[in-house]
Amino acid sequence: MIDREALTNCPLCDAGSDKARRLPKFSKDHLVRCGSCKFVYSLLIPNDEDYARVYGNYNYAAEDESRTDLNILKEREIASRLARYRQTGKVLDMAAGAGRFLVHFRDLGFTIYATEFSEKMCLYLEAKGITTYRGGLFPEGAEPGSFDVVVFTEIIEHINNPIPVLTEINRLLRPGGCVYITTPNFASLERRLIGPTWGMLMWPEHITYWSPRHLDLALGKTGFRRSRLTTQNISPYRIVQALKRGRMSSVLSDVSEQGFSDTAQEKVAGSKLLSTAKKLVNFGLGASGTGSGITAIYEKA
Ligand SMILES: [Zn+2]
Repeated sequence: MIDREALTNCPLCDAGSDKARRLPKFSKDHLVRCGSCKFVYSLLIPNDEDYARVYGNYNYAAEDESRTDLNILKEREIASRLARYRQTGKVLDMAAGAGRFLVHFRDLGFTIYATEFSEKMCLYLEAKGITTYRGGLFPEGAEPGSFDVVVFTEIIEHINNPIPVLTEINRLLRPGGCVYITTPNFASLERRLIGPTWGMLMWPEHITYWSPRHLDLALGKTGFRRSRLTTQNISPYRIVQALKRGRMSSVLSDVSEQGFSDTAQEKVAGSKLLSTAKKLVNFGLGASGTGSGITAIYEKA
């Protein structure tokens, strides 16, 4: 086992980690809060073995197979909204996984590009007809200033060098192009209710923890201005699951987790009354910035 090192500086504002405050409740994930900008991050840097353990056997094909009709519909809606940035007609998905989001852009007439880390994944994407750059978050051979949209979904929480990566994204975008970002919301009601067993706390995979304010800070530093930011989707399923593990376990043992499954969510989407109720809840959370996930569009300034 190779020894692990600690981050010497805040990944966001560069203040010394010696001034950061440890968060003892979140010690499983090695969390500290920056003494200067209050950003929450994992002090312990995962080593190669840690990464090999969690990413080595990741099954991307399963990601393709697990998509529900509702997922596909939502992705398509987002892609059509982002299509208004079309000038060069080029979209890049950073660490695209199975490339499932990108294909909607192809349907809209865009030329689609991806990056991934492992050779195996690059070949998987290429087999789908997607031009794929090696080099992970610093794609080799991608043309600077050429992309209308860079897709950066559920990636930023996995990295502890967000400033260089966002700077690279900015360099790849054409003037006025945008980056589309999604990430779990550490400032969410869900995280506050659940606490240290919140499902998004998952060192070594998640090592930086974002709030709307900290996203603004990072993107502002790297040449972007915010076009739109919302938070949404409280997950009753995750709350019940977490509370069942904790002190509420006896009270909640009869609550069916299946009742909050994806299938149930699809039913909610299908029922007008339920879906209006859900929209109202999510509207309230969105307006207060405390929804479980952050979705944001930032334009290259
Ligand atoms: Zn900081």
